[in-house]
Amino acid sequence: LNDNLSRAEGYLSRFRDGGVMNHIDGESVPAASGKTFETLSPVDLKPLASVARGDAGDIDRAVAAADKAFKTWSKTPGKERRAILIRVAEAIEARAEEIAFTECLDTGQALRFMEKAAIRGAANFRFFADKAPGAEDGQALRNANQMNVTSRRPLGPVGVITPWNTPFMLSTWKIAPALASGCTVVHKPAEFSPMTAKLLVEIAEEAGLPKGVLNLVNGFGEDAGKALTEHPAIKAIAFVGESRTGQMIMAQAAPTLKRFHFELGGKNPVIVFDDADLERAVDAASFMIYSLNGERCTSSSRLLVQDSIYEDFTRRVAEVANNIKVGHPLDPDTVVGPLIHPEHEEKVLSYFAKAREEGATIAAGGEKVGEEGCFVRPTLFTEATNDMTVAQEEIFGPVLTAIPFKNEDEALRLANDTQYGLSAYLWTNDLNRAIRMTDELEAGMMWVNSENVRHLPAPFGGVKASGIGRDGGDWSFDFYMETVNVAFPR
Ligand code: NAD
Repeated sequence: LNDNLSRAEGYLSRFRDGGVMNHIDGESVPAASGKTFETLSPVDLKPLASVARGDAGDIDRAVAAADKAFKTWSKTPGKERRAILIRVAEAIEARAEEIAFTECLDTGQALRFMEKAAIRGAANFRFFADKAPGAEDGQALRNANQMNVTSRRPLGPVGVITPWNTPFMLSTWKIAPALASGCTVVHKPAEFSPMTAKLLVEIAEEAGLPKGVLNLVNGFGEDAGKALTEHPAIKAIAFVGESRTGQMIMAQAAPTLKRFHFELGGKNPVIVFDDADLERAVDAASFMIYSLNGERCTSSSRLLVQDSIYEDFTRRVAEVANNIKVGHPLDPDTVVGPLIHPEHEEKVLSYFAKAREEGATIAAGGEKVGEEGCFVRPTLFTEATNDMTVAQEEIFGPVLTAIPFKNEDEALRLANDTQYGLSAYLWTNDLNRAIRMTDELEAGMMWVNSENVRHLPAPFGGVKASGIGRDGGDWSFDFYMETVNVAFPR
């Protein structure tokens, strides 16, 4: 840990000295107003750096830069865009440790996961880079009277608004396909964890991304974020965050008729039948809620277990939870680090009180760890019912609510009894049951006998209050591009 701490301090010193600036048209700039805000370390709540507090004026400048750059970037041949984006991927790999260490300190996420997240960021760039040369391709449709030629064009400058939980990986997942498709970007990262967004734009430009193609404006949702969603020159908003923020963004952007892609909250069920491989199911259910501090949109935060195995299964999950190391995010042994921010910690702790009040049993955790920082113990509520607040609201922490069910019908009813529909995890060795269940589950993404393993070409997104639209694979290009059709007479 000490070695990691001193290396991290080296990486961080530039932000401590110079702050986290905006990045507009290739220049590192403060907010025009001169205003800043502090980003805190969730480990000890001390300030890590001051951050430019952008507002509508900064957004305006960034959008003007993105608009200007669009004229050349959108016409840059796909092969050239591909080459640049591959170089960005290589540069991310070369600085993966710096990205991971910075992300750990800014978010509180454990190094064992953030190391992989940085590398996944590079993989995102590579994957979408390879699709750049064919991004405009379409099809020809012919009938007796007409030849229709369909192709795609980049949409224009787009806004990307990201949350604080795994900011680097998530941002690359949005930004890489936007750039590959020929769009230019204004990125507004979350105020709780702004540092790695600055690293990304610097890395990208050092690797050859032209000035103004990717711009960064830090600041709060209600000013910088809002201004970005309202800007008439921004053609689409890719947003990842809370469902109620999505509602606000939709209203804000309505007068300028933007395209949206929303990845929102979740209260994802993991459903375990008594015929499943229980050892693997215990591992996966625990991993999907206790990794990444449970601050993960696809976390399996509701554990639905068949009543015949409920007691044994929840006892085993409680055992896993009790043995998880909670500690400094840079300690290689840490699994659960501190939650992002005292405000968020307070929210998570409030659910411990709520669970007790509503009559759930606390089978593991349910308390804060230590006095300093935002550390909470991995928690399991048992004897819960699906109408309890802890079964309905997204807690976004290492907190799992276990509910028994009798049979398939009840499992399905409970799983779908939520406003959300992002992901669902099903554990059974009965193939016919898996087919029946996945046919009826209200979720955009389902995994059978597996935790969440992302396959980049597959669609990602939710139903109900969990989102609108899909990305991944070609879906990302459909979002960032306009499909146009030309009809010729025959
Ligand atoms: P949040 O909605 O509070 O903030 C997300 C971003 O939106 C931030 O950059 C914020 O500044 C900005 N914002 C806030 N108000 C705005 C406004 N009025 N106009 C424009 N921008 C505004 O979310 P959060 O607390 O940062 O992140 C946690 C949430 O993100 C959880 O609900 C989680 O489920 C969700 N999430 C979803 C996915 C997914 O893929 N579905 C992935 C990760 C996180």
